[in-house]
Amino acid sequence: LKYETARFESSYGTIEQLPEPTTPEVSFVGRSNVGKSSLLNKLIGRKSLAKVSSQPGKTANINFFDVDGVRFVDLPGYGFAKVSRAEKQRWADLIGGYFDSERSFNLVVSLVDIRHDAQQLDRDMLGFLVESELPFVVALTKADKLSRSKQNQQRASLARQFGLDPQQMLVTSSETGQGIAELRSLIEDACL
Ligand code: GDP
Repeated sequence: LKYETARFESSYGTIEQLPEPTTPEVSFVGRSNVGKSSLLNKLIGRKSLAKVSSQPGKTANINFFDVDGVRFVDLPGYGFAKVSRAEKQRWADLIGGYFDSERSFNLVVSLVDIRHDAQQLDRDMLGFLVESELPFVVALTKADKLSRSKQNQQRASLARQFGLDPQQMLVTSSETGQGIAELRSLIEDACL
């Protein structure tokens, strides 16, 4: 994929008018503040195409990017505590509505912070992906915050906690670029 051609396509606050599912699609999900925007920017090779938010939880939109004919879908970060029940419901509707719609789900990249033990919302998300038989990979984020040996330990431990094969989990860092090449090739294998 020619990542340098990446461009912002559109943004939606409701699922009524999502762009036609005419291209391969790679979607990115995870808790608010997990490092999703940073990972997207790193993948795309831009400083700030996807916004890195100083106010976590502010971006309750689905954002679409075109990357050389593949659509990257940035789903709203879930689990931000300090919002109203109505706003939480809106996020749930957006994420649920997206996955309920008729689209080409080539790969879902599910982001989980490598430093924390499995949290319920992540269990729910991964359980849903397994149940729906969607192709997915778990990107463990912020790996630069742990030593290499800790990274491996935590990967094995999180795989056990989520009931997944460690092979489904990729250790990544947007700071150091660790895991980015592997993630790109998984994306390309899923789309081309
Ligand atoms: P989002 O809410 O999931 O889009 O998360 P952001 O990309 O906005 O990142 C949230 C915070 O984590 C920011 O302060 C980032 O600088 C930081 N962050 C994101 N990725 C990494 C990473 O790989 N390593 C480190 N050390 N910090 C990161």
